Amino acid sequence: MDRPRQDRPDPAAPHQAPLRGRVALVTGGSRGIGRAVAERLAADGAAVAVNYVSRAADCDAVVAAIVAAGGQAMPVAGDVGSADAVPAMFDAIEERFGPVEVLVNNAGIHRGGRVHRLALADFDRVLATNLYGTFHCIRRAMPAMLAQGWGRIVNVSSPAALRGFAGDAAYGSAKAGQLGLTRCVAMEVADRGITVNAVMPGYVRTEMTDALSDASRSAIETSVPAGRPGRPDEVAAAVAYLAGPGGDYVTGALLPVDGGLTL
Ligand code: NAP
Repeated sequence: MDRPRQDRPDPAAPHQAPLRGRVALVTGGSRGIGRAVAERLAADGAAVAVNYVSRAADCDAVVAAIVAAGGQAMPVAGDVGSADAVPAMFDAIEERFGPVEVLVNNAGIHRGGRVHRLALADFDRVLATNLYGTFHCIRRAMPAMLAQGWGRIVNVSSPAALRGFAGDAAYGSAKAGQLGLTRCVAMEVADRGITVNAVMPGYVRTEMTDALSDASRSAIETSVPAGRPGRPDEVAAAVAYLAGPGGDYVTGALLPVDGGLTL
C-alpha cells in the first residue's frame, strides 16, 4: 500500500496543505472540471484517485501532472453508473491509498433532445451516470466514513437541478435527483462528522459545453452577469473549500459558482 503522506501541515502555513493525509476520489477526473478538481485537491495535500470511464490517456496525463507537481495520484478506471464497477474502483483505491475520505461526484454526461424524441437508452445513460453514479459512490464510501467519523462528499450539480431547460429532460431529471440525494444524505450523517454538499457550476467551457451549437453557446455566454464563462479552477476552488477545514460547518448546501447566472 502507498499510504498518503501523514506528516502534518506546516503550522506556519496550514492553508497550503489542508488535506494532507486525506484520500480523495474525483469521478470523471480525467478532463474538464474534474481534472481541475483532482489537481486542486492534490495541491491541497490529498492523495487523489482520478477516475475515468474510457479515455485512459487523458487520465494518465492528469496523474502524471499531479505527480510531477509533487503530489500523489492514481488512475482508476470504471463506469460510475455500474453497480458492479464502483465497488471494484473503491477496492483498488483502498489497496493503494486507504479508504476514500473526500468523495467528489463529478462524472457527468449530457444527452439532449425534447422529451418525445429522447431515446430511452439516452435517458437511462444520463440517469445512470449523473444520478446512480452519485448514489453508487456515496453508498460504497459511506461505511468507512461513518467508521472514521469524518468524510467530505461534494456533488457537482447544475442549474438544470433547479430550473427547466427545453431539451434537458434527462439531464435535468438526473441533476434534480442528485440534489435531492445530496440533501437527504446530508441529513442522515450531519451528526457523524460527514458533510454532503453540492457545487453548481454555471457555464464552464469544457468538452461537454463544446458540444453546444455556436448559437446556444453565445446565448448562454452573453447572459452571464459576470460577463464571462467560469473556469474549471474556479469550480475546483469551491470544492476545495467544502472539502477543507473552512467547510466543516457547511452541509446540505448548494454553492453556485456561476458568475451570477442563476440569480
Ligand atoms: P466533460 O469535460 O465532458 O468531462 C466528463 C468527465 O466525466 C470525463 O472525465 C469522463 O471520462 C467522465 N465520465 C463520463 N461518464 C462517466 C462514467 N460513466 N463513469 C466515470 N466517468 C465518466 O464534462 P465537464 O463539463 O467537466 O462536467 C463535469 C461535471 O460538471 C458534470 O457533472 C457536469 O454535469 C457538471 N457541469 C458542467 C457544466 C459546464 O458548464 N461544463 C455546468 C454545470 C455542471 P472519460 O474522459 O473517460 O470519458
